[in-house]
Amino acid sequence: MDMTRLTAVGLIQEYERKTLSCLDVARGYLDRAEKYGRLNVFVHLDGEAILSRARALDAKRASGAAMGRLAGVPVAIKDVLCVEGEPTTCGSKMLSNFRPPYSATVIERLLAEDAILVGKTNMDEFAMGSSTENSAYGPTRNPWDEERIPGGSSGGSAAAVAADLAPLSLGSDTGGSIRQPAAVCGIVGLKPTYGRVSRYGLIAFASSLDQIGPFAHDVADAALLLGVISGPDPRDATCVDAPVPDYLATLDEAPRALRIGIVREFFGAGLDPEVEAAVRAAIQVYEDAGATVREVSLPHSKYGVPAYYIVAPAECSSNLARYDGTIFGRRSADFSPRYPGEDKLPPIVRMMMASRAEGFGAEVKRRIMLGTFALSAGYADQYYNQALKARRLIRNDFDAAFHEVDVLVGPTSPTPAFKLGERAADPLAMYLSDVYTITANLAGIPGISIPCGLTKAGLPIGLQLLAPAFAEESLLRAARVFERAGDWHLKRPPLA
Ligand code: GLN
Repeated sequence: MDMTRLTAVGLIQEYERKTLSCLDVARGYLDRAEKYGRLNVFVHLDGEAILSRARALDAKRASGAAMGRLAGVPVAIKDVLCVEGEPTTCGSKMLSNFRPPYSATVIERLLAEDAILVGKTNMDEFAMGSSTENSAYGPTRNPWDEERIPGGSSGGSAAAVAADLAPLSLGSDTGGSIRQPAAVCGIVGLKPTYGRVSRYGLIAFASSLDQIGPFAHDVADAALLLGVISGPDPRDATCVDAPVPDYLATLDEAPRALRIGIVREFFGAGLDPEVEAAVRAAIQVYEDAGATVREVSLPHSKYGVPAYYIVAPAECSSNLARYDGTIFGRRSADFSPRYPGEDKLPPIVRMMMASRAEGFGAEVKRRIMLGTFALSAGYADQYYNQALKARRLIRNDFDAAFHEVDVLVGPTSPTPAFKLGERAADPLAMYLSDVYTITANLAGIPGISIPCGLTKAGLPIGLQLLAPAFAEESLLRAARVFERAGDWHLKRPPLA
């Protein structure tokens, strides 16, 4: 048996049957990570630490102690999440030397459930991007076609699961960064409701949008990991104090008379015909399974991308002000005056300017400038406050739609994975990669992408499902209805 082909649920069963030890599994995954190093999935991987964790878990099991819900399951971690004492770069040169003095709440929860952390995954710098090409550590390659992007910004975490370098991983989603890479890597990715999962220890990009969520091969594994990371946290005041259902236990309870809404606006210009065909076929699967299907309209979704590209950069310009070389992160070694008049500035100001100029990449600088402009006196009303109004209208559209239907469906990404470099010079084309995912972040609602097909060229296609706030249980069950009817979740890339 190739243990790296098991799902987390399958792996846990093998542990219970005592056919595998954690050490066997850790070794198997480390070998595979080495074999596929060319994909550039991990920015940090400490083999010794993984093996000693595995040995400790085997000893715990041998002692007869009760094991956690993720006992011995390898989980790859997007490098946006703080792990105490481990390098945490956020894909940036700015944090190349940063080792946080504390761990994120989600990391503590994984460790408390006896998971094995298997490395920090590559990402777009500060989670800004849709292709993982904005990483300071080189792009990650899509396991289905190594000349193509794995999506982003959580491209490393998506590729880790797709290439079976870990059965589970964590990502973050501010405008689509879990769902879009899941779609183009042929796996499941779930963005929880805003407030479902603590962001303590998540390096902030846009705080009113960011959420942490799971990647997995199938819906059951996503449900398992979501259950572990969800729930209130006194260290994150935005995390809602609501009970966490047992997502896994209720997964196969057939949703009663599922009502599906097809989002009309998600089938317009720019949608690849093969993606559209696969999504329409998926909708037919729901009809065949007895769901009622109707078309619904989200008339303000056309404002999603423009509103997002005001709100997200505005929040980013404020969040990223902390990287100034004084307390942590990169400090420029040479801040001698370079421009006319710079010699009149105090050295500490020149140090901050030089540290930021060296530490941030082009896309991050673009966002900081866009955000600073949008918030500046005289422009805030024209841009930022307008964007907030659009955001409210988008939320109202969803509220109205969810009076009529239980879940909304459509494509996750307008196209399959594009070629490395193809959109690098065109920020707008890159931003449009998230045209169907961004509105869920603006509204705060949960969304999932599940595999629903392959193009003729063998590239994965994702189906997106959206549900009302805190309805992850019904979102997962609805996703499971589709998954059970086919075998897209069993497909694996033809990796040599
Ligand atoms: N691609 C979008 C952006 O660049 C979303 C990123 C994300 O969700 N982190 O902002």
